[in-house]
Amino acid sequence: MNQPKLDLSPKVSDEIRKTTCYMCACRCGINVHMKDGKVAYIEGNRDHPVNRGVLCAKGSAGIMQVNAPSRLRAPLRRVGPRGSGEFEEISWEEALSQATEWLAPVRETAPQKLAFFTGRDQSQSFTSFWAQAFGTPNYAAHGGFCSVNMAAAGIYTMGGAFWEFGQPDWDRTKMFMIFGVAEDHDSNPIKMGLGKLKARGAKVIGVNPVRSGYNAIADEWVGITPGTDGLFILALVYELMKAGKIDLDYLANLTNAPVLVNGDPNSEDYGLLLRDENNKLMVIDRETGKPAAFDAHGVQPDLRGSLRDKGNSHRSVFHHMIEKYLDPQYAPEAVAERTGITAERIKRIAAELADVAFNQAIEIDQEWTDFRGHTHEKMVGRPVSFHSMRGVSAHSNGFQTCRALHMLQILLGSVEVPGGFRFKPPYPKPPEAHPKPHCGVRPGEPLDGPHLGFVHGPDDLALDANGDPARIDKAFTWENPMSAHGLMHMVISNAHAGDPYKIDTLFMYMANMSWNSSMNTRGVIDMLTDHDSDGNYVIPKIIYSDAYSSEMVAYA
Ligand code: SF4
Repeated sequence: MNQPKLDLSPKVSDEIRKTTCYMCACRCGINVHMKDGKVAYIEGNRDHPVNRGVLCAKGSAGIMQVNAPSRLRAPLRRVGPRGSGEFEEISWEEALSQATEWLAPVRETAPQKLAFFTGRDQSQSFTSFWAQAFGTPNYAAHGGFCSVNMAAAGIYTMGGAFWEFGQPDWDRTKMFMIFGVAEDHDSNPIKMGLGKLKARGAKVIGVNPVRSGYNAIADEWVGITPGTDGLFILALVYELMKAGKIDLDYLANLTNAPVLVNGDPNSEDYGLLLRDENNKLMVIDRETGKPAAFDAHGVQPDLRGSLRDKGNSHRSVFHHMIEKYLDPQYAPEAVAERTGITAERIKRIAAELADVAFNQAIEIDQEWTDFRGHTHEKMVGRPVSFHSMRGVSAHSNGFQTCRALHMLQILLGSVEVPGGFRFKPPYPKPPEAHPKPHCGVRPGEPLDGPHLGFVHGPDDLALDANGDPARIDKAFTWENPMSAHGLMHMVISNAHAGDPYKIDTLFMYMANMSWNSSMNTRGVIDMLTDHDSDGNYVIPKIIYSDAYSSEMVAYA
């Protein structure tokens, strides 16, 4: 039979440029095919360690980064009222002089009157550097309404979270649970990992109100009531604790569960961890029965330790965990109706986790020495792993839900072990190894340090001399103490209300607020266009910088 001759591999380009994808934070390797000097086609780079040639739909659409008709190609000056979309093109020189004319006096007198906020532009090292050099404390990016709860809860609990912090041990894990993850988050690495699990027959449980992509290929889908993941996780913790299926050796030797907590309500240090004169956390040594520094050579921390010291009573963190999480309010029967998951199903999933973690443990014949100098003959792995993202993080109680999930991982002894969750360098990195927030304004000079970070106590809050919020978004205040990525979604409403103070210029950088503030698009438009009694805009000046003509452009 005659077949038509088809060219199955037509030459689509005359040059290939290797780079990384800009469409999400995974940074997959891509080969960009150029034809006649233009981007013609994007394919995954098979040699790149992140994606090994895999390219998701969003990555393929990266071609529009360059070719989109909505690309802005020259600076624009508004000639009609805000929102009208009436602009004239101006030269770069005119645009930069206008911006300098507005911003120079602000920097010299009151730098905080510039609020500079960026979207998911992936160039935050540069934008934060610029804002810090300008001297305004008012800088943040989109993370504050996205995955900040995941990142902050992870760093405070175990020195890192999911996604860019590390990955499940895809080659060894035998049971994997994925909570609230859309397919565009950590896309290719997760898909490749799931492929490995499916090929090996490892069990995948998807927890999500919607049976979307990842949940459709899961072995079991748990269609949870939105916003109740924390209750479900704490019910799993309750069941595991009740059955004694937690890794006591791991907790005693590799976590701060044995550290002593001051339990005397009359003490100044009530609720704080006990420290010695060198500021080292204290435990009870099982061998001697005496207090010792947490990391002292040869110490064997006692999970059940307690101590009466200087008239104050102390008990280990573990005591408190048992009391708190064996509370009947977390029993499967108590959460079943609210989560939409039957008590029997919660118990069965907890039993499966316990079975895989403890009855199917991995042992690797590799001697190793821990940080206290104890030598162990083997590496023991608990082959259960977890992943979660914005669906859990961006709900009310997201921070506590994320903490609960990390605690579940730790109780099972499945962090930094074969088959469990494995960090990527430089993680795990505790909050002490991250910057603290800075808000020290000095007119005409740079800010006194990086804007964003991790508070360790009240002294680290971003408050002025009167105890009022130093930042326009009120991040790092008593109201929002652990807002590690700032609170971008509060900027426009606070600037409009003049609360905690009025600003002069709102400078948004690749931040389409009709998307970023979609919880109140109409309200945002009203705030951006509102006038005061003198007929001036309530937010006096708005500079907007973007590569595309997004909805925000009209309000510059
Ligand atoms: S997962 Fe997709 S969008 Fe993200 S970097 Fe990779 S190809 Fe690009």
